Amino acid sequence: MTGLTTLPPTAMPPKKTSAAPCPCGQPKGYAECCGVYHAGVAAPTAEALMRSRYSAYVLALEPYLLATWHASTRPTDVTPDEATRWLGLSIKRFEATGADSALVEFVARYKIAGRAQRLHEVSRFVRDDGRWYYVDGQFDQEAADRR
Ligand SMILES: [Zn+2]
Repeated sequence: MTGLTTLPPTAMPPKKTSAAPCPCGQPKGYAECCGVYHAGVAAPTAEALMRSRYSAYVLALEPYLLATWHASTRPTDVTPDEATRWLGLSIKRFEATGADSALVEFVARYKIAGRAQRLHEVSRFVRDDGRWYYVDGQFDQEAADRR
């Protein structure tokens, strides 16, 4: 592989002001989007939870990442990599697999040391007591390489 897949540089708007679009990519501001869930409101769908978890990675909200991780698979701590610069999220597929379970397939783009990367994952979510939780994910490396 050569460096030809490098994306052109894009201007990055400031991310943490409430006027900016939400880090998850929704046009509405953070305060009306993922900020609501970060403040404690239960995400209504697995997709909303997925978006709010992505935003939590962008904003380095470790407690939120742990709180939305299912107890059966939750790590003892999450340390977001300081070198990772998150560039965007796109939800590819949302599938209810039961009354209280769902799959979300997404691609997250990020940069490490100036190199653009893609994380393509199919994540499993379950709902316990009215709250959605992230269970685990499978990387779709083949699909990521095809692009
Ligand atoms: Zn959002």
